[in-house]
Amino acid sequence: MPLKILFVSTSVGPLGSGLGGGVELTLANLAKALEQRGHEIVAIAPEQSISSELTIMTVPGELQATAQTQGRAAQIELTGNSVLGNMWEKARQIQADYDVILNFAYDWLPLYLTPFFQTPLAHLISMGSLTDAMDHIIGETARRFPGSIGVHSLAQAETFSFAGQCHILYNGFDLSQYQFQAQAERPHALGWVGRIAPEKGLEDAAAVADQLQIPLKVWGAMQHQDYWQAIQAKYPQAPLEYCGFLETHELQQQLGRCQGLIMTPKWVEAFGNVAIEALACGVPVVAYARGGPAEIVADGINGWLVEPDSVSGLVAAIQRLAQIDRARCRQEAESRYSLAAMGDRVEAWLQALL
Ligand code: UDP
Repeated sequence: MPLKILFVSTSVGPLGSGLGGGVELTLANLAKALEQRGHEIVAIAPEQSISSELTIMTVPGELQATAQTQGRAAQIELTGNSVLGNMWEKARQIQADYDVILNFAYDWLPLYLTPFFQTPLAHLISMGSLTDAMDHIIGETARRFPGSIGVHSLAQAETFSFAGQCHILYNGFDLSQYQFQAQAERPHALGWVGRIAPEKGLEDAAAVADQLQIPLKVWGAMQHQDYWQAIQAKYPQAPLEYCGFLETHELQQQLGRCQGLIMTPKWVEAFGNVAIEALACGVPVVAYARGGPAEIVADGINGWLVEPDSVSGLVAAIQRLAQIDRARCRQEAESRYSLAAMGDRVEAWLQALL
């Protein structure tokens, strides 16, 4: 039966800004996957959100701080005119028009509100365990509303004490938007894609570029300018090139020319959308064996996994990139991470919940 589904977006940035990280693309992809199955999707998102394909109701208010910049003991903070509060007030007002509400925000409030809504709430948790308060409210929600918590990978689930109650969904992509490029451009360049933020470990990729003197192209939202400057100061000879935050169409064109994508997360990456985007273009992935990328990368098949935090391990893996078949990388993306595959998983999750 077709469902009417209300998406409520992340509160840390407007859709299209890049500040919301992978959540932005995941939300758009999930809307597409579910619409292809006849479901109707409307999204509530912060003011200034843009999307060419989604029906969005925008809501004003101040953005939330990101959870990963706070310590484990961080308290719950909301400002007087919080976009998070305003989005959930909007959801409350229109809930009767929907069969289910899907929350994309890694925030305490929507989890807390679960029992106060008449329309069932499902929560797609975008990051692993970061604060005690979030662990507590997600765990309580999982206990009181079985099946309401979705996550992106087994590694992400395992950061929580209630891993067994999390529904593992992985992500899916509109692979028609990514063009397979059989050959890497010469001279070779490496790619790094992500928010420019400490948890992403860009400094290790810079160290690799410095040692190998291979150009490293960096794409992503500039979240922490001082962090970027510190990396440049530490590796003045590293051939780093910041290429900005691009739309998918342009990003895939440029990324597809790289010899490999390097992923250097310092945290348990919940999934790592950029790994699949690279594979879809035929670009193998060299990643620390930590979090989602460790479930995506199959050693010697679509890239290489490296001991976490080992720059020498990254260097050795990059020297073996030529052994990876780029066509096989594309196949891996198609077989496991298509929109249809994600649509199946998420539809089954929501129907079981209802
Ligand atoms: N991204 C983009 N343009 C860029 C660089 C990155 O659209 O120039 C997007 C990318 O498609 C991905 C997201 O930024 O969806 C990063 O998500 P990921 O899951 O890798 O990490 P997160 O930021 O959620 O930790």
